[in-house]
Amino acid sequence: MATTKSFDERLDKVRYNEPSLATAQFSRDEVVAYIEAKAQEKTDFGYPYRDVLKLFPRDWWLPSIEAILKARWNADGARCFVDALFQAEPSYFADAPHELLDWNVGFARTMRMLQARPDVAREGLRRMFETRDGSDRWRAAAHLALLDASEEPSLGRALAAVTVPDSSDDAAKRSMSIAQWGLREYGYELRGDTLHRAWPRAAFHLAFPPGYLGGRPKEALEFPPGEALPSTFAFGGAIEGRNAEGGRVRLEHILTLDPVPPGLGVSASRLVLAASLWILEDERTESFYRHHPDGTIETESDEVRPHPAFQSTQVRLVRSPATKRFQSWGEGTDENLYRLGGYPVFVQSPSYPNCIGCGLRMSHLLSLDSGLPLEEPRHGTTEHAWGSGGVANGFWCDDCRISAWSWDCT
Ligand SMILES: [Zn+2]
Repeated sequence: MATTKSFDERLDKVRYNEPSLATAQFSRDEVVAYIEAKAQEKTDFGYPYRDVLKLFPRDWWLPSIEAILKARWNADGARCFVDALFQAEPSYFADAPHELLDWNVGFARTMRMLQARPDVAREGLRRMFETRDGSDRWRAAAHLALLDASEEPSLGRALAAVTVPDSSDDAAKRSMSIAQWGLREYGYELRGDTLHRAWPRAAFHLAFPPGYLGGRPKEALEFPPGEALPSTFAFGGAIEGRNAEGGRVRLEHILTLDPVPPGLGVSASRLVLAASLWILEDERTESFYRHHPDGTIETESDEVRPHPAFQSTQVRLVRSPATKRFQSWGEGTDENLYRLGGYPVFVQSPSYPNCIGCGLRMSHLLSLDSGLPLEEPRHGTTEHAWGSGGVANGFWCDDCRISAWSWDCT
């Protein structure tokens, strides 16, 4: 659009060289027209939506963005402005959590907003659950349960109430599958009469020693030391395992939990997590490991090739602060996404493997961002990336003592 292009060019000069002159060089009408035009375009990844809000007075842009909200435009660009508004005015959605869910400003940001005013949020979400239907209704229910574990039993009852496995009523079946699909996305499903959550409430962040991650992510070391568990935990290096034929194979050691912190859904007192990074790189699908009582870790694959291990180190486990219990990938912030327990971090749509032992859905145990240092270069670099820079997740079935790994990226 010609109007936004010339605005962009003029704005570029101002925002780099003379940000204080922005108000003098543009009129309010121009800014309003620009925001409206830009909101209807596709997401422009190179464009600093936030700068527009920063450079101009609040009453130049807030009415336009409110209009966007009211019209519920679905354009990508509108979402970017809402996202920018959220960052500029975090209190904006505080009294309207149901509005917030409709605007898809990012999962983690949504959760933080809800957590900031939990009582108001619960009220709004309950209202949304009662007055909406279809997937909106279950999205509200899931957020209620995410926000507050004490809401989970009533979520279970609501799900059980629409669960009609043998019904010949098509409408009832459809409602059931909408509910099931909607809740599975957040890790909830009905097992018998009980609501099952495929991730533990206990959540820790891995805090690596200074310099291990080459200075990133900064937050890894900024948690209050009082919140760290007393011991350190071995991370990285190589370990011997077995393949499906019982032969010795080299696996890459991930993390030894000794002791296993409580609340993770792991009944053993010690757990060694390892995987073949080569299999993970090669297959992209889930790979499974049996953990035998003698400590042997057995991969399902018969072929395992070497891959450089993560540099071995000792990590601390830091109890995740409330604002970091729910995180997601790619919300534009440089966050520590090396997490033990808690809500998984998926890049694409959530996917929990089914255990190869019992067939049930496995529980999330560990999320590992890209950026870990390798002992030797691979593809010309020692900085490990999951695909184009995604996140890997480790899962656990406590009954079968089987772990699983998968990863995804954009
Ligand atoms: Zn199992």
